[in-house]
Amino acid sequence: MSIRLNGAPASPGVAIGPAFLLDVEEIRVAKKEIHSEEEVERELKRFHDALNKTRRELETIARRVSDVIEGRQLIEVHMLLLNDPSMIAEVERRIRTEKVSAEYAVSRTLYDVLERFEDMEDPYLRSRSADIRDVGRRVIANLLGTEREALLNMKTPVILVSNDLDPSQTAGLSRKQLLGIVTDLGGVTSHTAILARSLGIPAVVGLKNVAEIVVPGQTVIIDGIHGNVILDPDPEELDYYTKLMERYQSAEREIARNADKEAVTSDGRPVELSANIEFSQEADQVRKFGGRGVGLFRTEFIKLIAPGMHDDEEMHFRAYRHVLEVLDPDPVIIRTLDLGGDKFLEEVPTRERNPFLGWRAIRICLDRPQNFMMQLRALLRAARFGNARIMLPLITHREQVLQVERMLNTLAEELDSSGIERGEIPPLGIMVETPAAALAIDTLLPVTDFVSIGTNDLTQYTLAVDRGSPYVSKLFDSFHPAVVRQLELVIRKCREAGTWVGVCGQMAAEPLAIPLLIGFGVDELSVATTMIPDVKEMVRSLDSRRAEELAVKSLELASAEEIRSLVLKYVEKRYPEIILDEIIRSGEE
Ligand code: PEP
Ligand code: MG
Repeated sequence: MSIRLNGAPASPGVAIGPAFLLDVEEIRVAKKEIHSEEEVERELKRFHDALNKTRRELETIARRVSDVIEGRQLIEVHMLLLNDPSMIAEVERRIRTEKVSAEYAVSRTLYDVLERFEDMEDPYLRSRSADIRDVGRRVIANLLGTEREALLNMKTPVILVSNDLDPSQTAGLSRKQLLGIVTDLGGVTSHTAILARSLGIPAVVGLKNVAEIVVPGQTVIIDGIHGNVILDPDPEELDYYTKLMERYQSAEREIARNADKEAVTSDGRPVELSANIEFSQEADQVRKFGGRGVGLFRTEFIKLIAPGMHDDEEMHFRAYRHVLEVLDPDPVIIRTLDLGGDKFLEEVPTRERNPFLGWRAIRICLDRPQNFMMQLRALLRAARFGNARIMLPLITHREQVLQVERMLNTLAEELDSSGIERGEIPPLGIMVETPAAALAIDTLLPVTDFVSIGTNDLTQYTLAVDRGSPYVSKLFDSFHPAVVRQLELVIRKCREAGTWVGVCGQMAAEPLAIPLLIGFGVDELSVATTMIPDVKEMVRSLDSRRAEELAVKSLELASAEEIRSLVLKYVEKRYPEIILDEIIRSGEE
């Protein structure tokens, strides 16, 4: 009997293949039994190697974080926990007597210890459980690192199944190895989803427990258009999805053939279509998919995909230069580091209760100017190789923009006096992705050269719905009147001020949102490179005056459902069949 699951459709397309289970969740790991004495010895060695590796990592971090919040003290606590003889003995005992893999033994031991800690009366001791969890996660990640190696060396392509993924785990993987991705956690705008779209790989996220029930090697079908996943499909299901896959691929080829056509509405209004990229090499694809320039380069991925490597100025400079040169003279919007939230690095302590409301993005950059200036210097040096623009994430206060402007001026002077070549200081823009920035947009417009709306975060912060949590994903809806009204306000104010305004959140690729955004009057839509042909096809089928009427009407409606059905009625006769199919079926789920 097949098992059908439903999650969030994160990256379109259909894939069929064997499951490859990558366990990366904090400390929960699937049970793996071992049998021979040889295997026991091997697992013990793996455990001790992972401990040593973790020790080295902690030493490196200790050197780096001496100036950060709790700094060295925290790392020292971690080191003590890591070397705790009773915990080490307990893990060894489990490997020997229960005959289980090293990662499972570590995970079970941690569970037991955590349970004891969480029941403790003393709040200090209770709070130590977070440290134990952190250390355990590190050891397990080091043990599982070997799985990633196995994945990289895979001869036949697989469907990656995981509790959660972070960018470093998929770095370097290609379509040759990866047919699709399914995860327990994450929503449509989580960073796993973004990554899957940038790789052009079908993905379904937010399945809650798929990593628990899948058996490695089991046949998996992913329907990334509607968010379905089927384990062990029966022959009819296999037949149905094979046909759907073929149909989807041929429609995609057809649409891709139109890449060279102009991005204009049917009545001739131009809409700039650009790419969201995470890796510099992606720039090579943008023109092939019919895009003009980059509307969002998520530069934090430069570091995220290479954990353990120090992201120095040269690394950033080379990445920016490549993108700018390849796309010159088209504009390239380079967003400054947007770490925190759901994108963590070891040097960003993840000890807040609400990381999305905490130390994130521009806030980290301004608090840690050394690292930020490294990035700005790389940007100024690379600017002479193309048409660069700088964009700041998570702006809530006008002073944040002014502060960066001052930093850029100072850095430019310093480069000049050291005789280092640089380009002109690029235009400096902001992301509008908080209600603060949207509602007070008139206070920000005088200090910004351009605006790009990040609808993923704008939705998250407006509706108070964590964009990565499967438990509240039903409430995450960019068509909510509160979001739509802010979009209208921001776009109108930008137009009145003569400020260029784009949209770079997921909404820019949503079939039902595109008429509204065009109707409100955006200059640009920036979407995953692989989505550009679809979006262009939709733009070309719309009449901008009708879109304007719809957009005005949407402001009077009381719910997301009403807004969607208003737009659906209009696009029904216009969009290509494959896109309509997508909208209608996902509405049914
Ligand atoms: C957004 O928030 O809409 C956005 C484009 O930025 P990110 O998804 O990288 O947070
Ligand atoms: Mg954002």
